[in-house]
Amino acid sequence: GSPGEPVTPSNGKRKTRLACLTSGGDSAGMNAAVRAVVKMAIARGCEAYVVREGWEGLVRGNEESAGQHGVGETPLHSPPLAGGVPGSHTPSNQPKRGGFVATYGEGELLKEGEGEQTLRGRYIIRVGWDDVRGFASIGGTLIGTARCAAFREIEGRRTAALNLIRHGIDALVVCGGDGSLTGADKLRAEWPEHISALLERGDITQEQYNTYKNLKIVGLVGSIDNDMAGTDMTIGATTALHRICEAVDSISSTASSHSRAFVIEVMGRHCGWLALMAAIATGADYMFIPERPPTAADWQSSMCSVLQRHRDEGKRKTIVIIAEGAHDCNLNHITAAEVKDVLTERLGLDTRVTTLGHTQRGGNPVAYDRILATLQGAEAVEAVLSSTPETPSPVIGIQENKITRQPLMEAVAKTQEVAKRIEARDYEGALALRDPEFEDCLHAFRATTRLNTEYRVPEGERMRIGIVHTGAPAGGMNAATRTAVRYCLCHGHTPVAIYNGFVGLLEGNVAELTWLRVDQWGTRGGSELGTNRTLPDSDMEGIAAKLAEYKIDSLMIVGGFEAMVALNQLSGARDRYKALNMPLVHLPATISNNVPVTEWSIGSDTSINVLVDACDSIKQSATASRNRVFVVETQGAGCGYIAMLGALASGANIVYTPEKGINLKTLVEDVDFLKRRYQQDVAGKSEGRLVIRSEKASKTYTTEVLTNILAEEGKDLFDSRLVSLGHTLQGGVPSPRDRTRAVRLTVKCIDWLEQQNKAKQAGAATIVIQGASIRFADIGEMMQASDLKHRRGREQWWQGMQKLVDILAGKVNLQDEP
Ligand code: ATP
Repeated sequence: GSPGEPVTPSNGKRKTRLACLTSGGDSAGMNAAVRAVVKMAIARGCEAYVVREGWEGLVRGNEESAGQHGVGETPLHSPPLAGGVPGSHTPSNQPKRGGFVATYGEGELLKEGEGEQTLRGRYIIRVGWDDVRGFASIGGTLIGTARCAAFREIEGRRTAALNLIRHGIDALVVCGGDGSLTGADKLRAEWPEHISALLERGDITQEQYNTYKNLKIVGLVGSIDNDMAGTDMTIGATTALHRICEAVDSISSTASSHSRAFVIEVMGRHCGWLALMAAIATGADYMFIPERPPTAADWQSSMCSVLQRHRDEGKRKTIVIIAEGAHDCNLNHITAAEVKDVLTERLGLDTRVTTLGHTQRGGNPVAYDRILATLQGAEAVEAVLSSTPETPSPVIGIQENKITRQPLMEAVAKTQEVAKRIEARDYEGALALRDPEFEDCLHAFRATTRLNTEYRVPEGERMRIGIVHTGAPAGGMNAATRTAVRYCLCHGHTPVAIYNGFVGLLEGNVAELTWLRVDQWGTRGGSELGTNRTLPDSDMEGIAAKLAEYKIDSLMIVGGFEAMVALNQLSGARDRYKALNMPLVHLPATISNNVPVTEWSIGSDTSINVLVDACDSIKQSATASRNRVFVVETQGAGCGYIAMLGALASGANIVYTPEKGINLKTLVEDVDFLKRRYQQDVAGKSEGRLVIRSEKASKTYTTEVLTNILAEEGKDLFDSRLVSLGHTLQGGVPSPRDRTRAVRLTVKCIDWLEQQNKAKQAGAATIVIQGASIRFADIGEMMQASDLKHRRGREQWWQGMQKLVDILAGKVNLQDEP
């Protein structure tokens, strides 16, 4: 083709050229997004490009003097390393070493910082399948980002337009914050103007004008602030929250030792999401966020009275979290230093300030950001391919658990509106523009932190609420208990702990819990109350008698599938035992996420993080020894959730779940697939590969058998080793996501028990997250949706991810699909 013209395949249709860039402040997960966009684009038959250094790279383009690729030429060394979907192509006989793409393909240049030499003067780069190898697990953005003043001016954007056309690029996926996306929207809105001007100037030909009449742009929100309207979560926010919680958890222990106060400043100029979530997840005593400044002008006194009351209760440490954009109700900036001075002078506390700064941006992305970025990156490509000149540019978002598309400009406008409302001191208005989680969490924080009486329900409506754990431990169970206890006290109820599950109840292992007793529980793994698998029907009469003896008015059961079965047994026995006629609520908590109906159980985020961390280490070892396939065995009972999401987050090549099972035919296909992949690797530069297998995926093809088969069949190409993660998945520190979710859902559970009690009803229900809503599903509905034999839901939302795992592994080719 002529310079800049994409290759025309045999069917005569011009291939779409799709480029991806990252812009603005970096955030963890941007690499995973780039990887997904590149791979999905190639799988869909597009030519994939990356633009280095954000908008800056697009404005600069490829300099004439840079190697042999002058502006307007088809970049060198294309087709890239693997050319298309691996496995669907015979290995390319293009030179694999020496060219930029091949070196980039091994990811060394960008990772080691040696790439600048080869890349100097070149910003718009054609990439192949293997060029994004290993991207998902790396923090920051490997293709670079920059702030670009030129792009703010129309001339700069015109140059960017010219560069896009010169490289024959028809579609652009931009990952960045609201600034970057505003830029994207401007570029698209001005496009007709740009191309007319470029034609007039003679910078482009009439043919180019006709071909590139429309630019397709899709936005991905990469930002640690989580400040974008219309999406519950931005790529990188969860990782930043992890970093903050790691830091605050560490500070907490030393604060407690020395009985100190700490003021911890976190990022967020206009958005208090990080500060709020960190405060909830770490059990902080006080916080300052821009959206909800202290109501009293004399915030100093309000803060001191809250903190003094905590000290009077017996607390040895004081943690205050402050967003960098915090201010009082008159918009006067509140600084960490000011807070420190107040605490030192008025309360006499030995106070230190810690500003977390850039540590919040760093480190490996957590599992959720990898998954979010991967799902959204793949969706961005679909959105590009289905967009028409008439459709407004979309931004990809997520609501609760649904990947969404919405007009980019609306989302940007709404986001900027929040800052405007804060500026105008319309705090209610600002809050209304945040997603529902924000408001819920704000309420939960106040109600579980403050020791005051303002939320008490009338005397006659107060209950003794039993809290019991059932089944295996899961991260977040303790955060749920802590919240239940604090929220009960705040509302005037009596929280009654039942230790050691239903066995403990029968043994009378029951005690009231205090505000201070549970203070540190939120951050702990395991189950402070103790848990086991004994169900109430082991002695229903005894259970009923004990509940009556301890005057329990309603019960909250925290646990997984067992807890749901327990709920069913209790509610089913009501006609026999009057004492069971009370509201019963179940909060799903299990690492395997096998509770039906709900899309997420507490603990299921922690387990994926443990798996992903382990896979990162294993992969490193596998890659160090080059040709090694690790077969990683996960827990998860009859449910393949951990394996599937773990595979998506860690970039595993193959995943085996109990739902799909393993048979001889797929085994042979998988062995052939792995052989093909190793054959395609550059000699001496093979990578390690991962196979993830749920422990119950097959009775015959055990993990050991599988490993042996792979070792045998791999011959000279690869060997194979087994790793079993076992109970490690239950352990560790609960992830902030599980902690905050536990808090949010527990508050709703107690509210529900109150409503039931007030209405003199005795419902039995599970709190579930479904699509974009949180609701209470009656136990009848829960049981109906259960596959009791395999102990999982009949339908599981994540099963559709199998296809994406296969696509990203290079196993399937989508080019012929509509
Ligand atoms: P962060 O989450 O770090 O704030 P961001 O994308 O909002 O990310 P910005 O620095 O605001 O970061 O924007 C990044 C780049 O996007 C800018 O350097 C500029 O090139 C471009 N950009 C921002 N705002 C505009 C605008 N109003 N018009 C055109 N381009 C813009």
